[in-house]
Amino acid sequence: MIGTTGVVVTVEASVFKSTSKGDEAVRMSGLPDSVVNQAQTRVRSAMANSALLFPEKSVSVNFGPASLPTTGSAADLALAVTIMCADEMLPDQRLADTVLLAELGLDGSLRSVPGALPALLAAHRAGLKTAIVSPENAGEAALVGDMTILAPRNLSELVAWLHGQTELEPSKPTETAGTAASPHLPDLADLRGQPRARRALEIAAAGGHHMFMVGPPGSGKTMLAERLPSILPPLTDAEAVEVTSLHSLRGRFAGGRAELIRHAPFEAPHHSMTIQSLIGGGRHAGPGSLALAHRGVLFIDEAPEWRREVLDSLRQPLESGQVLVRRAESTVAYPARVLLVLAANPCPCAPNRPIECHCPPGDRKRYFGRISRPLRDRIDLRIDVEAPSASAILSDQVESEPSEPAAKRVAAARQVAADRWAEAGETWKLNCEVPGPALRSPRWRLPPTATGAADGLLRRERITARGYDRILKLAWTIADLREHARPTADDIDSAAELRLGYTIT
Ligand SMILES: [Zn+2]
Repeated sequence: MIGTTGVVVTVEASVFKSTSKGDEAVRMSGLPDSVVNQAQTRVRSAMANSALLFPEKSVSVNFGPASLPTTGSAADLALAVTIMCADEMLPDQRLADTVLLAELGLDGSLRSVPGALPALLAAHRAGLKTAIVSPENAGEAALVGDMTILAPRNLSELVAWLHGQTELEPSKPTETAGTAASPHLPDLADLRGQPRARRALEIAAAGGHHMFMVGPPGSGKTMLAERLPSILPPLTDAEAVEVTSLHSLRGRFAGGRAELIRHAPFEAPHHSMTIQSLIGGGRHAGPGSLALAHRGVLFIDEAPEWRREVLDSLRQPLESGQVLVRRAESTVAYPARVLLVLAANPCPCAPNRPIECHCPPGDRKRYFGRISRPLRDRIDLRIDVEAPSASAILSDQVESEPSEPAAKRVAAARQVAADRWAEAGETWKLNCEVPGPALRSPRWRLPPTATGAADGLLRRERITARGYDRILKLAWTIADLREHARPTADDIDSAAELRLGYTIT
């Protein structure tokens, strides 16, 4: 497995009579001893507990291509079966065009491995027709489609099948797989009031703008962020496979059931999280929360409470759209195009009503200063979230607008932007991807009558050059949502307000 792309590994074994006593060893080419020893222990034990005799001979195993790091235990089953076939204990007729993918338990059971979906997709691309996996991986494996999935519970069942003594029932995809609906997404209809916050969500979704929400506890920041996926476009087939593969690599489908993820994912890691669990890595170099939020929302609540270096590890991936995970002998790249939503209380004491704040002067500034400036600079819009007003809560007869019409407006605005940049011969799809200098170039520059408010802020040094560009990007998204061909003075004003988090005077 390299990133989310699987590579088919061929296992070859030769078994020959030992020349001298004590030479009955297993040799595997190009692998560290620790990996070889662990695999050998599992395979020997699994065979012994399945009443199968491990050859008392020299065994030599080759993995190809040899340059690939073959870590983990996914090759256990292939290793056991290859050795038995090489020793002529097993017939191999039923193994034509077949991939074997499972860890072996010491008792001989087949165990699930992370990343079964991308691994089998690679096998399918390589022309293999049948996959033998553990029952726990069967649901995920069936998502590949057009491949026969066999899931014996243990080595004995597989051996009986290889001898032609029994048949194995092919696994079918989980019932709900393939349905387009994503009925469990939290919906905007659950919100009461909060028109400003709703509008900000719509703008963030339409332009792909990262956002920062500031508000007292109980003002509904989490509730708002959780509803962002419901107005983002559903994933295309290719995106669904890519996102589901990332979740498969994290082992999210243990238990046997699996369906393609067809909507923007939502990940809300806790502030106690380490860099490794946010960015990815560890024993199998699996994806972290950031990559799991790919094509969806990464929600960082209580942002000032996070360790600075942990949050700062997001900077490079936010820029490049991919995250590099280093491990001992290689680096793995996972896609990581996310919409980042940061949230924070207005101050360290976090009272329910702002009037009750007892923070000494300066504490508030220091509190936000815990989030590094380079990270804050990547946030396009900021909103103050207030708890819904009493009248909004009480007026239950007034229906809140559900997500569907908002999602339609978002989709329409995204289409307008994508068409505009495509017609101009550019590769950008979302307004957030357009570089600042391009927006200030003669082709896209707006007249001073439109940009006046932002120009003034820049001249008075209330915003940086980067901040100015962010306002332009937001203004294009606001114009797309309002069906303006180009941003107007009003669109620029709204953008500046969203950038600064307050109304400009
Ligand atoms: Zn306070």
